[in-house]
Amino acid sequence: KELNDLLIRLENVKPSQNAYTILKDRYFLKDENREYLENDWDDIAKRVARHVASAEVLYTDDVEKIREIENIYYRLVLSRVFLPNSPTLFNSGKTMSRKIFTKEVKDMIYEDYKYIYDNKGKHNMLSACFVIPMEDSMEGIFNAVKNSAMIMKYGGGVGYDFSVLRPQGSSIAGTGGKSSGPISFMNVFNVSASTIEQGGARRAAQMAVMRYDHPNVLNFIHAKKNNDGKSVLNYFNISVNIDNPEEFLELVNEDGELSLIHGGKEFDKIKAKEMLKTISENAWKSGDPGLLFLGRHNKYYAMSEKTPVRATNPCGEEPLPPYGSCNLGSIDIAKLINDFDITRENEVFKEIVYWCTRFLDDVIDINVYPLKEIEEMSRAQRFIGLGIMGLADALYYKELPYDSNEGREFMAKVTAALAYYSHVSSSDLAKERGNFPEFENSKYPKAFIPFPMLKEDYMKQWNEKIIEHFNSEAIKYKRNVQTNTIAPTGSISNLADTSSGIEPNFMLAYIRYMTDKEGNKVPLPYINKVLLNKLNSHMTDDLEAEIIEKGSLKNINGISEELKRIFITSMDISPLDHVLAQNAIQSYLDASCSKTINMPNDVSVDDVYDIYKKALSLNLKGITIYRDGSLQTQVLTSNEKK
Ligand code: UDP
Repeated sequence: KELNDLLIRLENVKPSQNAYTILKDRYFLKDENREYLENDWDDIAKRVARHVASAEVLYTDDVEKIREIENIYYRLVLSRVFLPNSPTLFNSGKTMSRKIFTKEVKDMIYEDYKYIYDNKGKHNMLSACFVIPMEDSMEGIFNAVKNSAMIMKYGGGVGYDFSVLRPQGSSIAGTGGKSSGPISFMNVFNVSASTIEQGGARRAAQMAVMRYDHPNVLNFIHAKKNNDGKSVLNYFNISVNIDNPEEFLELVNEDGELSLIHGGKEFDKIKAKEMLKTISENAWKSGDPGLLFLGRHNKYYAMSEKTPVRATNPCGEEPLPPYGSCNLGSIDIAKLINDFDITRENEVFKEIVYWCTRFLDDVIDINVYPLKEIEEMSRAQRFIGLGIMGLADALYYKELPYDSNEGREFMAKVTAALAYYSHVSSSDLAKERGNFPEFENSKYPKAFIPFPMLKEDYMKQWNEKIIEHFNSEAIKYKRNVQTNTIAPTGSISNLADTSSGIEPNFMLAYIRYMTDKEGNKVPLPYINKVLLNKLNSHMTDDLEAEIIEKGSLKNINGISEELKRIFITSMDISPLDHVLAQNAIQSYLDASCSKTINMPNDVSVDDVYDIYKKALSLNLKGITIYRDGSLQTQVLTSNEKK
């Protein structure tokens, strides 16, 4: 009943004008003459819910039950409490009979659901995240180019581990020539990506990973040195993988050396400190490379013995084994925060998480994978990535500063609740539908906990519940190898009119320009709704103009210190506080999270170096920094700094 009341209220809140501008440009289905088949958010909610619920035909022949499930999915999406990743919004029901998707749910018969399930085709690719393997041969490399093109075409992002490739200058058997090296091949992938418009709706995105001990690692670290955001490997994020961050940090502190090796052969030696400095210099200049700590991920990944992870998807939140894929979905906690306490055990949140987990598990079944190998891997381990968005707005409502102990306590507890309920749900689903096929080969039967948890006293209650879950009878059952990921939610948070992922708000008010399909710049003015709410009658046109001008409350006269403290924005949060927030959240995630450590323009290379060192010593699975103004193509800038 409580959930019902909540949904009724939220279903009545229509998406904003800005959200509709984006929907119209990218999300509403069109026919072959480019005429709109949809014009309301309701149309998308219905299409997506129906398409995904039709996977239920695999588990029941009770049409009444499928209709009920469709209705719950529909209401979660319509209310924007939960949104799946963009490919699910783009591609559900695409190129299928419109008649079935415009029926009232009460008129749906079993054969309709069966029709949707049986007639899915390559256009119905629903996942955002992929990793494909690289092979050290010409054929292998160009096969990967082709495979990734197919993934990007339908709206997925791809990651690769380039460390597999032999170093530049190595001999090539059969030709007597020398290898041009991994970086030159990255350019081939970049050109391929540049010619693909993903699902006709967005830019292709890729992640290149290289191990810290590959002989070409310095070339890799410098690969985006001359990046202006537009031309140099601009379809790539790049990250250096330090498998064992503790050991690496020790080497840095002792000023020790490490060997650069390939195929068991040592090519060179380099001081760990020098490597970290070089990484810091480049990241200071252009944001790349970031760091990944995939050894740490493998420690918490239940299948690492059989299929170790060596790369992540483009934005880093989803480490995956070769041929792995993951579909994501995010719950907007800002929409829930005023109704109940998500930091404690709560039946309504539990129920929401259960349905979202079931939705994402259904997506695995109804999904059409771009490659047979990806289908096999995805079905064998059943990766799903349920996360949150709206954290910053939720903290505003709760009046907890993002950079405070109380703020971090909130973040850790909300993530623990998410992790606990989704794992309980995954076990419940397994009782009904069976374990993920590799369950017996995984670490779960040995009572393994897939994340480190925090030691703080305030986490005691959640930690105990989590330990009990992974030790108890429940652990005979697990439907999904991983359940939680926090995505950037770059587009879907705009559709939900909430703050993105776990990031603080970059600005409280701004005008963002979206380039539409015709190349026109469309202004999307925005002002934070929680702030509007709080200022209420104190908000005047002059004040609004000043907030748009300055982006934050920091330098505005007449605003109380308390309000300034609560409504903090990204650039006013210290880099260390960004890292501590990431740590609080990462401690309860089995996969990873998308987070940028934003730094002011005037930080030094040493500041970047110190932040990287800090990241090496915590629970983080990686780190991405960005220094304000370092790229010309920055999406958001505050007027004050221009
Ligand atoms: N992604 C992509 N291209 C894009 C944006 C995203 O391929 O332009 C993929 C990428 O793997 C990323 C994931 O989608 O990590 C999730 O991104 P985000 O949450 O921003 O996507 P949304 O669902 O909001 O569109």
